[in-house]
Amino acid sequence: EQVRRALTDLVHDVPDYPEPGVVFKDITPLLADHDSFTAVVDALAASGRDADGAVVVDKVVGMEARGFILAAPVALALGAGFVPVRKAGKLPRETHAVSYSLEYGQATLEIHRDGVAPGERVLLVDDVLATGGTVAATRELVESCGGDVLGVAVLLELTFLPGRATIGDLPLRSLGQV
Ligand code: 5GP
Repeated sequence: EQVRRALTDLVHDVPDYPEPGVVFKDITPLLADHDSFTAVVDALAASGRDADGAVVVDKVVGMEARGFILAAPVALALGAGFVPVRKAGKLPRETHAVSYSLEYGQATLEIHRDGVAPGERVLLVDDVLATGGTVAATRELVESCGGDVLGVAVLLELTFLPGRATIGDLPLRSLGQV
């Protein structure tokens, strides 16, 4: 209930950002409210536990940039490590890279080669699932390291875009749908 209220009251629609025709979901008011931030982190962290509440992931991966803000406290809540996936050129050591297409043009994401160890179980966390391209590319990166993606948890799923279809069989928890 607190999560539902946080998503409806504290995520603001910003029309025509970052470009005309796009309605951007601004989560910063939610982050600024301690009780709401706590509630959504707890709800996202549930994706890293089994039915008995036991933690089933070794690493939580967050995608630049808003994914970092959510994935780091989720990792701490689970007693897991946090691993960043970043835009090209931002990570200082040896990386795996995956390029994927955006609506206009291309994007490249990277992970440190030793960010996830072979056999580690990984939860992906981001703020918004839109086309699913970011999640699909991140899954590839984790698998390049030999890791196993158990699921993805997001605050909001934009259901007018094909995110769920793009990520296929990957278990998805979205705290809200718009
Ligand atoms: P996708 O790759 O699924 O198309 O886009 C998801 C990525 O774009 C996420 O990393 C997310 O942060 C960002 N994104 C796309 N649309 C929105 C939006 O309306 N609000 C926010 N906060 N992020 C968005």
